Amino acid sequence: MPIVTSRSVVLQAFRYSDTSKILRLLTRDRGPVSVIARGALRARSRLSGLLEPFAEGSATFYLKSNRDLHTLSGFELIRERQALGGDLARFASASVLCELVMRVAPREADAGLFDFLVAALDDLLEVSEAGVQGVAAARIWQLVALLGFGPSVTACVDCGRPPEAGRPARFDLAAGGLRCHRCPRVGRYLAPDEVQALMTLAAGDPSVTPSPAHLALLAEFIRWHAAEGSRIRSLDFFAVS
Ligand SMILES: [Zn+2]
Repeated sequence: MPIVTSRSVVLQAFRYSDTSKILRLLTRDRGPVSVIARGALRARSRLSGLLEPFAEGSATFYLKSNRDLHTLSGFELIRERQALGGDLARFASASVLCELVMRVAPREADAGLFDFLVAALDDLLEVSEAGVQGVAAARIWQLVALLGFGPSVTACVDCGRPPEAGRPARFDLAAGGLRCHRCPRVGRYLAPDEVQALMTLAAGDPSVTPSPAHLALLAEFIRWHAAEGSRIRSLDFFAVS
């Protein structure tokens, strides 16, 4: 069995038995992998307390060919990020990022996606209280685009022209983006400032604080367009946090 070491981030961790945990990792070199950490829940385990969601480390595991579950043998911690759990908005947003990656990311290695995810988790950790929602919405819209189903916000989904500044627009969920004021009124009405906020946040600029309606729209968009969006349970508490 080959031994592999890769920079990894813990997307999800759950108890498997009295002493073992199963982890979903995003690795930088191999994409998403599942590993079992035998004995990790024993008090004296050197893995004890390290294998929590959002933690980043250098993971070493035995790669079993033709198996979906590999065996973790080591985890050299790089950054733990447990403070994300101390604030509901940060925790909910980090959970949506990780769950989206877990459900939707392709099975192969994607270093760009890995680097984006760890930077986004750091942003959520470091942003001031007032900026959390802006960072959350901007990074989740960016991830959605990286995963291949970003919304169309700079060109109307009907006529293809850019939405006109200072005008209201519609968000056409089924068509996947903005519908300008010149086109038939299908979808949710967005006032001019809401159109501007959507364009700003979807471009990855976190300087706007999204409204509760914006966060609800983002959650709805993911459920509609991600193949497994309806299974992303953290969306349920993200839009209300
Ligand atoms: Zn149009």
